[in-house]
Amino acid sequence: MHKFFLSRGDSHMNVKHVDFLLTFKCSAECQHCSYKAGPRRTGYINSKDSSQYLEELTNIQPLQSVWVHGGEPFLYYDCLEHIIKKAKGLGIPRRGVITNSFWAKDEKIAKKKLRELKDCGLTALTFSADFFHQEFVPLENVRNALKSAVGIGFDNTSVDSYFVNDVTSYNYFNQFTKKNLELLEETDGVEFHRFPMRVEGRGITLTEYITLKPDIPLGKCPVPFWIEGNLQNPETIEIDSEGNVTLCPGISIGNTNMQSLTKIIKDYDVEKHSILSIIWKEGPIGLLKIAKEHGFQQTQQYANECHLCYKLRNFLQPVYPYSLVPKECYL
Ligand code: SF4
Repeated sequence: MHKFFLSRGDSHMNVKHVDFLLTFKCSAECQHCSYKAGPRRTGYINSKDSSQYLEELTNIQPLQSVWVHGGEPFLYYDCLEHIIKKAKGLGIPRRGVITNSFWAKDEKIAKKKLRELKDCGLTALTFSADFFHQEFVPLENVRNALKSAVGIGFDNTSVDSYFVNDVTSYNYFNQFTKKNLELLEETDGVEFHRFPMRVEGRGITLTEYITLKPDIPLGKCPVPFWIEGNLQNPETIEIDSEGNVTLCPGISIGNTNMQSLTKIIKDYDVEKHSILSIIWKEGPIGLLKIAKEHGFQQTQQYANECHLCYKLRNFLQPVYPYSLVPKECYL
């Protein structure tokens, strides 16, 4: 296929990594979920669309990684397999999946599924394990999946855990997570990643357990940890099952049902984005003036810049119905 690599002058974006939010459907319904995924959500990225996205992206420039998550990507296992195979065929070197392990009911099942995925070209696996996920998925399933993954041998096997307030904060949620992780740490060859949960989406209901700052946060946008680069030149994009191309949960830079992914990437200019231009220049505090013009009353305290950002975007969502999507991220 003819490749028309865009020159740096053509685009502000230099996309090296793509995350597919394969579905917002999930076997769990975690209290901290930014996307409010759950059993009642519907839709998934079909194989035709995922192929199209990968072809367009690799036509622009070589990709370094593809990750598939959600929601729970194993609910659409054929589509997951398809993405991994397609990415391998296009020469994308790192191909990973993030799962809650609901499907790993015993080691035999876990080994079979993971062996199949390895044969398709999967190179990395991340398992979610913390208080929130274990409300829905037995820890035994995570152990089954983790042991099988290590036995089969992937380039990288890791566990991601989210903590309430901070990773060192003492509270019921974090103590539960810590105890569970001690059991998982018995498996060698696994990386453990601990993150503070983001105060957004369904997680907003946990605000009472979060330390709020007396002063309004005036800092810059830190950019989500999984988005390499910055808002002007993000190196990672996420594409969801509704066609939204997002840089942070609930902030879209375009929708593939309205224009091609190539055009979205080519046209992206942070200075022209209705919401990101303000966040980029002024930090989330810049949204406060606009929210006030629309009747927002500033009375509460916030944990950090992202908490403020989310609360203001939540208020402004009806004013920016195209930029502030997927809508389900908001209340
Ligand atoms: S929530 Fe707002 S401030 Fe935080 S990373 Fe996202 S865009 Fe930036």
